[in-house]
Amino acid sequence: MGAMKTLIIGAGIGGSVLALGLQRAGMDFQLLEQAEAFKEIGAGIQLSSNAVKVLDRLGLTDALPKFCVEPDAHKFQDWSTGETILRTPLCPDVLDVFGAPYYHAHRPDLIAALTEGLDPDRVHFGKRVTEVGEDGDGVWVKCADGEEFRGDVLIGADGIHSVVRDSVCQHAPARRSGYVTWRGVIDAADVADLDVPISSYIVMGPKLSFVFYYVGGAKRINWLAMGQTDDEKKESWSQTATKDEVLAAFDGWYEVPRRFIEVTDQPFVTALHDRDPLETWINGHIALMGDAAHAMLPYHAQGAGQSIEDAWVLLRSLELGADAPAKGLRRFEALRKDRADRMIQHSRDAERWYHMSEPADVESRNARFRRYNEDAAKFTPQQIWLYSYDAEQAALGTDEDWRALPAW
Ligand SMILES: Cc1cc2nc3c(=O)[nH]c(=O)nc-3n(C[C@H](O)[C@H](O)[C@H](O)COP(=O)(O)OP(=O)(O)OC[C@H]3O[C@@H](n4cnc5c(N)ncnc54)[C@H](O)[C@@H]3O)c2cc1C
Repeated sequence: MGAMKTLIIGAGIGGSVLALGLQRAGMDFQLLEQAEAFKEIGAGIQLSSNAVKVLDRLGLTDALPKFCVEPDAHKFQDWSTGETILRTPLCPDVLDVFGAPYYHAHRPDLIAALTEGLDPDRVHFGKRVTEVGEDGDGVWVKCADGEEFRGDVLIGADGIHSVVRDSVCQHAPARRSGYVTWRGVIDAADVADLDVPISSYIVMGPKLSFVFYYVGGAKRINWLAMGQTDDEKKESWSQTATKDEVLAAFDGWYEVPRRFIEVTDQPFVTALHDRDPLETWINGHIALMGDAAHAMLPYHAQGAGQSIEDAWVLLRSLELGADAPAKGLRRFEALRKDRADRMIQHSRDAERWYHMSEPADVESRNARFRRYNEDAAKFTPQQIWLYSYDAEQAALGTDEDWRALPAW
């Protein structure tokens, strides 16, 4: 093990990827998680090729196909008819063009694949961090149970309500988007009569959208709906909703979304929040990554993807500059902040694109989408900017091809 010791706060997808990367690089770390075990909510996740490239580098190339599903395309559909207005290819085209596939997965499967090989002596569950800081002897962490940890570098991978963030920059509350997301996972067998192909679906309606895709060996379907409600909802993944409440929002929609909601055992609801870009992610030997640094709305399905990219660039910045970790953290921030902050803004913009309700706006959006369909261009410029990013090249500074792309 190298001499530098990294403390990681939070074993979500971002913290787990960083821990696995440090372990594979033979670097010293301790991973502190408030929960009693590795856990991810029982929902789906989209993993675009920019994220899968990192998972490949972590040695998961053979593990991923065992639980991931490969959709053939993104299909943007009309809410009342189900007509596909825009189809952009995913598998196998994304792999051919960008060097890694586009996957859909069930989150618990992904977190299991990331964490099953972690050294248990380096993972500390039931450690709710209450305070962190730095003094002449390095960084320190205090936990609610009174235990303290010390190290050389501290990484806050502790999500949208990060405690570490308060030690890095001025406190700024999360921003309510005004939308909630309802979600559920269903057995594909219960809707087999609908004969839904294995694609990635985004159904756009007035102030309401419905996203769905297969997970778990295509035996299950994950759906999520973004809409508005009069009730006050929490930013919590465990808050339940009633089927009637969700169905009422989808009155008049085409059959597929309504059937999915009807066969769902228990829908959940979460208020959607993001955060304005922070002034900085770094204070001395303390850094933020993932949602702690750049929580974004889910419309481009990039929050975890950006967290995974962060983890790789951070790992490599620490590894390549092990004799000067504070400089490594600043390099990490310089390499990552612009891209992640742009995704915060693009994800906000997409909220409007998905939910247009004025007929003239809908018509001009759909006309633009149809033009893409007819064009020879297979991927949109935005997808190219997103999917072609290679975190290893970014870390080495050899990503001039990607940097030469028009900024999105
Ligand atoms: C509806 C919805 C759909 C989404 N879909 C996608 C998608 O398809 N693709 C995608 O890439 N992203 C998606 N995202 C975003 C994605 O879920 C997040 O960006 C991602 O999970 C962030 O990972 P993270 O590791 O940074 O943080 P988190 O997943 O929030 O992990 C933080 C960890 O830190 C722990 N923790 C927190 N505080 C403390 C503390 N004080 N002490 C100790 N431990 C602590 C938590 O228990 C948790 O384990 C979606 C988000 C939403 C809301």
